[in-house]
Amino acid sequence: MTAQIIDGKQVAADMRAELKTKVAGLKEKGIVPGLAVVLVGEDPASKSYVTAKERACEEIGIYSNDNCLSADTSQEELMALVDKLNNDPKINGILVQLPLPKHLNESEVLLAIDPKKDVDGFHPINVGKMVVGEEAFLPCTPHGILQLLVRSNVTIEGSEVVVVGRSNIVGKPIANMLIQKSDTGNATVTVCHTRTKNLAEHTLRADIIIAAAGRPDTVTADMVKDGAVVIDVGVNRVEDATKKRGYRLVGDVSFDTVKEKASLITPVPGGVGPMTITMLLFNTVQSAKIAAGL
Ligand code: NAP
Repeated sequence: MTAQIIDGKQVAADMRAELKTKVAGLKEKGIVPGLAVVLVGEDPASKSYVTAKERACEEIGIYSNDNCLSADTSQEELMALVDKLNNDPKINGILVQLPLPKHLNESEVLLAIDPKKDVDGFHPINVGKMVVGEEAFLPCTPHGILQLLVRSNVTIEGSEVVVVGRSNIVGKPIANMLIQKSDTGNATVTVCHTRTKNLAEHTLRADIIIAAAGRPDTVTADMVKDGAVVIDVGVNRVEDATKKRGYRLVGDVSFDTVKEKASLITPVPGGVGPMTITMLLFNTVQSAKIAAGL
C-alpha cells in the first residue's frame, strides 16, 4: 500500500479562505480582529516565524500589531507591555514568542496574559478548560493536527492512537483532545516518551500514530501497522551538502519507507507545519467574536 499524502498546505489554505470570509463578515459589523505578537531578542528562527504570522494576518484581514523588543528588555518592561495589550480593545490575541531570553521569567509572563486573549492556548486556565472538556482556546499545533485528521475523514472514535512525545505544546494536549468525549475524540490514546520500554510494541498496535519526538527516524516502517494513519509533527535539520543552506528539514518518521505501509501520511515540510499559524488565526477570530458578544 502506498499512502495518500495529507496536504497540510492545502488544508491550511482552505481554512484560511474560510477565515477570510468570516473576517470580511465581521468587518461589515465594524469588528476587526487584532493579533499582537511580542518578540524579545534577535533569534532568526523566531523572527522568520513572526514575519510569517504578519503575512498570514494581512492575507486574511486581521490587524497585526508587532512588538519587537531588544534582548536586554527587563521583566518589568515586558510585564508592562503585556498589561497594555491586555487592556487594548483593538487586540483580541496576544502571542509572546518563546523561548524568551534566559534572564526573563517565562511562566510569569504567560500567566499575565488575559486568558480571554491567550490565542496560543498555553495559559493554565485554558489548559484546564481543555482538560475538563470546556470551551477554550486550543493550542495551535495539536489543534492543527486534529483538523488534519478531521478534514481527511480519519475515524477517530474507537481508534487506537499512539502519541510519541509528552511535551506541553504537542504530546500532552493532542492526547487530551483525542480522549475527550466529543465528536472529534473518543479515541483510546497511549502516550510514549523516552522512558517507554518498547516503543514499537505500542506503535504497531496503532491505527493513528502521532510522532512529536524531535528526532529523525523515531518511527520506522517496521514500527507501523499496515494501513495506519501517520502524522509527523517533527521538524529536524539534517546536514545536506546538496542544499544551498547546507541542511534539509525532515520529520520524526522515516517518510520514504513508512509511506509504503501507511494509508495516510503527512510530509515534512508541508504537513502539520502550515496548520500551526492557521490555528492561531482561527483562535484570534474566535476571540474577536467572543469579545463582540457574537
Ligand atoms: P520536546 O519538548 O523536545 O518533546 C519531545 C518529546 O518526545 C519528549 O516527551 C521526549 O520524551 C519524547 N521523545 C524524544 N525522543 C524519543 C524517543 N526516541 N522515543 C520516544 N519518545 C521520545 O519537543 P516538542 O516541542 O513537543 O516538539 C516535537 C517536535 O515537533 C520537534 O521536532 C519540534 O520542532 C516539532 N514541532 C513542530 C511544530 C509545527 O508547527 N510543525 C510545532 C511544535 C513542535 P521525554 O519527555 O521522556 O524527554
